[in-house]
Amino acid sequence: MSVSIDFGGDSLAGWIQHKSGISVQRCYQCGKCSAGCPASSDMDFAPSVLLRLLQLQNAESDQKVLSSYSIWLCLTCHTCSARCPMEVDLPKVMDVLRAESLRHKLVNKRAKDIVAFHKSFIDTIRNFGRLWEVGLVADYKLRTRHFWQDVVVAPVMLKKGKLSLIPLFHKKFVSRIFSGLRNREERA
Ligand code: SF4
Ligand code: SF4
Repeated sequence: MSVSIDFGGDSLAGWIQHKSGISVQRCYQCGKCSAGCPASSDMDFAPSVLLRLLQLQNAESDQKVLSSYSIWLCLTCHTCSARCPMEVDLPKVMDVLRAESLRHKLVNKRAKDIVAFHKSFIDTIRNFGRLWEVGLVADYKLRTRHFWQDVVVAPVMLKKGKLSLIPLFHKKFVSRIFSGLRNREERA
C-alpha cells in the first residue's frame, strides 16, 4: 500500500541533503559498502541498493527505503564510509532514514524490538544522565513484553558486579544536551 509522504516539497534524497549535508547522488554504485557491511546479509536491501533507491527520487522507492528492515539493522560501525571512494557517510544517512521512518510511521514490523531498544536506551540516558543497565532492561522488557528473555544471565552479572541496582545520576549536563537538541529540532 502506498502512503503519501511529505518532505517539504522535496524528495527523500533532497531531505537527507537538507538534514545532513550528504548528497546520495555522489554514490556511483561500486558496491564496496555492501561488500564490507557486517549486517548486509540480514538486510532486505544492501546499503548500496538503498542508495540506488534514493537516487531514483520517486515516492514508491522512498517508501521502500523508509519501510525497509535494513535501516534498523545498521550498526553505525562506519565500515561502509571507510571503504567508500566517494566518501558517502552512510551511517549519517541511516540516522536520517530512521528518524523519517518513525516520523512517517513506516517502521518495518520486524524492527519492532529494535525500535523499542532505541527508545529504552534514549529514555534511560534522558532520565538518569547516563546508561543504567537495569533501568534499560526493565524499560525494554515492559515495552516488548519479553519478560523471560535472557533472564538467567542477570544473577551472574549481578554477582560479578556488572549490574548496579541503584542508578547514578548525572542529569544536569545531559539535560542541557537534550534541551539543545529539542531547540534545534524546533528551529529546523
Ligand atoms: S562504496 Fe560509496 S560509491 Fe560505492 S556503492 Fe557504496 S556508497 Fe556508493
Ligand atoms: S555503518 Fe551500517 S551500513 Fe555501514 S557497514 Fe556498518 S552496519 Fe553496514
